[in-house]
Amino acid sequence: MAETLFSKIIRREIPADIVFEDDHVLGFRDINPQAPLHVLFIPKQPVATLNDLEPGHAELVGRLVLAAAAFARKEGYAESGYRTVFNCNEDAGQSVFHIHLHLLAGRKLSWPPG
Ligand code: 5GP
Repeated sequence: MAETLFSKIIRREIPADIVFEDDHVLGFRDINPQAPLHVLFIPKQPVATLNDLEPGHAELVGRLVLAAAAFARKEGYAESGYRTVFNCNEDAGQSVFHIHLHLLAGRKLSWPPG
């Protein structure tokens, strides 16, 4: 896949407000937050879109979800609630082609999403 700016964030070549890191996952605040808490969780191993996921990525995807849920709990949003979103391709508004799980919290989120 073509390299994206998220690989540069992983390598610290461009700055980001990093809030979570382990061997497999990086979490950083979205540059254009859509809620009081808006963090992106990405795999360090790049995968372009959800369409490119294979069975071998199951643990990696699980790690993204677990990291987002643990961070939401740590920030105090377990009771009030939060949303996690993967956008895939054009109609969903995917703009960076390195999969990322959005974590949004801190305001009432409407449904269905726009
Ligand atoms: P998508 O639209 O692909 O689901 O989400 C991409 C997200 O990446 C957007 O919410 C956008 O604001 C965020 N983003 C784009 N460029 C940067 C950047 O350079 N730094 C950070 N922290 N977020 C970015």
